Amino acid sequence: MKYKRILLKLSGEALMGDKSYGIDSKRLQQYTQEIQKVKDMGVEIAIVIGGGNIFRGVQAAESGIDRVQGDYMGMLATLINAMALQSALEQAGLYTRLMSGIKIESVCEPFIRRRAIRHLEKGRIVIFGAGIGNPYFTTDSTASLRAIEVEADVVLKGTRVDGVYTADPEKDATATKYKTISFHEVYEKNLNVMDMTAFTLCQENNLPIIVFDMNKAGNLSDLVEGEEVGTLITTL
Ligand code: UDP
Repeated sequence: MKYKRILLKLSGEALMGDKSYGIDSKRLQQYTQEIQKVKDMGVEIAIVIGGGNIFRGVQAAESGIDRVQGDYMGMLATLINAMALQSALEQAGLYTRLMSGIKIESVCEPFIRRRAIRHLEKGRIVIFGAGIGNPYFTTDSTASLRAIEVEADVVLKGTRVDGVYTADPEKDATATKYKTISFHEVYEKNLNVMDMTAFTLCQENNLPIIVFDMNKAGNLSDLVEGEEVGTLITTL
């Protein structure tokens, strides 16, 4: 196995599946199966899930809601997704812990770094909900920060695109995919991988990122075994 401890970042939008809002139970099942596969391989798994399928702070600001208030609403949206994922994983017989960036004690534990590491060591899947717990951040930043804090080997950014391209493949037919690319090159070419805060955190802490298509069965387990899936972003 190439990676022993992973931080899997899932976007909230991916959870919608074919729906236009909310959570698609088929997609949830599909992700559960993929996660179970890597769990069975003995990988320690931490997960950060976004909230874009329910609420985004920036959109709220556009509709007149205070930005900070909107960001907290966004964080609560990520917690709803995290709870749905936790439930799906537990129904599949997996052991999980949900840790929140905002204190919400009747629902889950607060994030405590040492505790999170202990859960991972014990083989529990740890889901980090409610982002970092601060406005003006994203769940990508949460993924980078938590990955560094729990000493994950890699951030796996599961998206609907199968890697980083020279241009947006949905708009430009001539776009080609990188197998590997350096942090420096991503920055220089202004390629869209993560927001700058999230990206810089990984770069400064020498934490590789893999962007891959989470909707293709077997991708997650293949890349944990070291196969070339998606695009690897590293110091080179
Ligand atoms: N958010 C925040 N702080 C955090 C994480 C998230 O304020 O640490 C808010 C922010 O408003 C964001 C929303 O939660 O728009 C949902 O997260 P994100 O957009 O990153 O989700 P994704 O796009 O991955 O579904």
